Amino acid sequence: MFDSLSEKLESVFKKLRGQGVMTEDNIKEALREVRLALLEADVNFKVVKDFVESVRVKAVGTEVVQSLTPGQQVIKIVHDELVAVMGGNEDNGLNLAAKPPVAIMMVGLQGAGKTTTCGKLGRHLKNLKRRPLLVPADVYRPAAIEQLATVGRQLGLEVFNSSADQKPVDICSAAMRFAELNGFDTVILDTAGRHQIDDFLMNELAEIKAAVLPLEILFVADAMTGQEAVNVAGGFNERLDITGVVLTKLDGDAKGGAALSVKAVTGKPVKFVGLGEKLDALEVFHADRLVSRILG
Ligand code: GDP
Repeated sequence: MFDSLSEKLESVFKKLRGQGVMTEDNIKEALREVRLALLEADVNFKVVKDFVESVRVKAVGTEVVQSLTPGQQVIKIVHDELVAVMGGNEDNGLNLAAKPPVAIMMVGLQGAGKTTTCGKLGRHLKNLKRRPLLVPADVYRPAAIEQLATVGRQLGLEVFNSSADQKPVDICSAAMRFAELNGFDTVILDTAGRHQIDDFLMNELAEIKAAVLPLEILFVADAMTGQEAVNVAGGFNERLDITGVVLTKLDGDAKGGAALSVKAVTGKPVKFVGLGEKLDALEVFHADRLVSRILG
């Protein structure tokens, strides 16, 4: 395994102990290590470039605090900057404050984890004493409707009855009416994905958005896809003005740099992370935790 960034920086700065101030020269090598660590964690290269520049500006001229080594101090600057770029430690909870039923629309590429995340989110909301209704609106992938029904059964959550011969926008509108009549306060819409962004899909999602006016549109991104997740997030955000991101499969090898890039590119917060295939493997996003993971 790689040494952690902290260890690398400690060794970079070994020679530097006792020299009061950080200068362009003496932090050059440290910034190189920071850049490599971020690229290794799959952060988009443009995002890395801007980020390293902001760390440089903060670090140069800084006096080395007595209690820290220069390496520890750069780590602290990098850590604090990363947390700030990720939106700080503010609460990025769901915005559900409106007259019920409110809709949460899940969007993303096929395989990103939408259907699974619908179930996880339903469970999360149930724990918060809400009454969620799961709605299968992916009529193209043959097994998708049945998959969500299975997830609903496992969690004891109601799943709206839809069939593959209906138009997705009709399913979603009918589900909103059903929720209103039957006392469900939150409607989670599982929409179709594709292997890549296409106009047909985007038009369909825009149509659903216009019909149900969701309070949340969550883009579900597979952390393992790294850089690609960023381009795709940009595309979905442009067309749909998403409200947040769920980063799935962080239980794998991905270091989670995609979270940083997606936030930097779309300006939208990561709200949840998926940490496994099981339906309880969902966590509210904490910038601190992700940053520790990236810095290793
Ligand atoms: P969809 O096509 O976007 O609806 O994706 P699915 O919900 O069907 O998920 C695709 C695959 O990813 C399934 O095998 C899921 O079990 C798996 N998956 C989803 N979320 C996670 C996660 O957080 N971690 C892991 N390891 N697997 C996940």
